[in-house]
Amino acid sequence: MLTAETIDRITHFDSHGLPVVSVYMEIPVDVKDRAAVHGKAVSLLQRLEPLAEGDTLDHDAQQSVRGDIRRIGEAVTEERLTPGGMAFFSCSGADLYEEIALPRAVPDRVMVDETPWVRPMLAVLDEYLRAGIVIVDRADAQLWELYQDELAEDARLTDRKLRTTSLSAAAGWRGWREPEIQRKGNELAKKHFRHVVDVLQDRADDHRYDVLMVGGHAEQIPGFLDHLPRELRERVIGTFVVDPDTVDRGVIRSEAGRLLERYQRDRERQRVAEVLERAAEHKPAAIGVPECLWAGSMAAVQTLLVQDGAVVPGVACDNCGWLGLAGEACPVCSSRLRQTPDVLDDLVQAVIEESGTVEHVVADTPLTEHVAIASLRFPVPPEPERTTSG
Ligand SMILES: [Zn+2]
Repeated sequence: MLTAETIDRITHFDSHGLPVVSVYMEIPVDVKDRAAVHGKAVSLLQRLEPLAEGDTLDHDAQQSVRGDIRRIGEAVTEERLTPGGMAFFSCSGADLYEEIALPRAVPDRVMVDETPWVRPMLAVLDEYLRAGIVIVDRADAQLWELYQDELAEDARLTDRKLRTTSLSAAAGWRGWREPEIQRKGNELAKKHFRHVVDVLQDRADDHRYDVLMVGGHAEQIPGFLDHLPRELRERVIGTFVVDPDTVDRGVIRSEAGRLLERYQRDRERQRVAEVLERAAEHKPAAIGVPECLWAGSMAAVQTLLVQDGAVVPGVACDNCGWLGLAGEACPVCSSRLRQTPDVLDDLVQAVIEESGTVEHVVADTPLTEHVAIASLRFPVPPEPERTTSG
């Protein structure tokens, strides 16, 4: 599983100027299709041959790239590829080798840069919320957890209920009438609901779930929702109707996946709208890649929204942190700029470094036109004339 520590280790890696090879690959779920993976890897790695053989790199850098090609090439022939996506980061000259299983497929890509290309990996990670799922019935409840497409059973809660046999016995022995039996049944159901809520509250206190979903019989869901305290109620992103007695893992996964997908796309649209609104109200905001790069250079970005899958070549100053689209020398400190195949990757890392947040937007929003927008912590001064020649 992809953790914050792993990402931290990779993003803080210092190659001391040596090239880092980053490879992303889709690994098919069907084992029969896996045979093609090796061929794909070979052709991706072949694109690096000119670097490893030509004279664009110095001797040490060439040696390092050759080592990376060999190591990644070997890794894909081994049997430990997990379905979904794989990311490989290698810089053999500076002792970096990481292979990361990603919970979903990513487009096949290879990138050589002085820093590991982490953005596709970050995009995958911010897709995933930890979701709690409750399948509730009058006396039973199933708790499930969905994270990174993995569905795990968390707990099963069973409480006392009136059985048909005990109903007639109770009616016979205590002389209960129908309404009393019903009332007793409802009382037990309420008690059960309170039990489930207590368990959910414990999970919430431990920050186990970001969001909640509730499934069950249509007539029981509203009653259960009424028992949730406000704090938990606000985390419920949707409900679905299933028969708790017959529902299986596959149904829970697809119902929960559908609700989560809808919730995430809605949230993305809302965030894009908020930033555009800030800009319209002349509050601190950056619209478009150049403005976002400048704001990022000033450590002013609070929340950055980037179109998922977009790649923009550019330049970065490793001395002062200035980011731009082109140039030879830094307009701020005059240092020599590093050319980068994806300057958005540098921007994302800079924002995270300054404790800002980054969201990769998959939904179709006006962001497809702007590529990057941001809400800022403070207004930034206009950018000095951008240098395009050295
Ligand atoms: Zn600089």
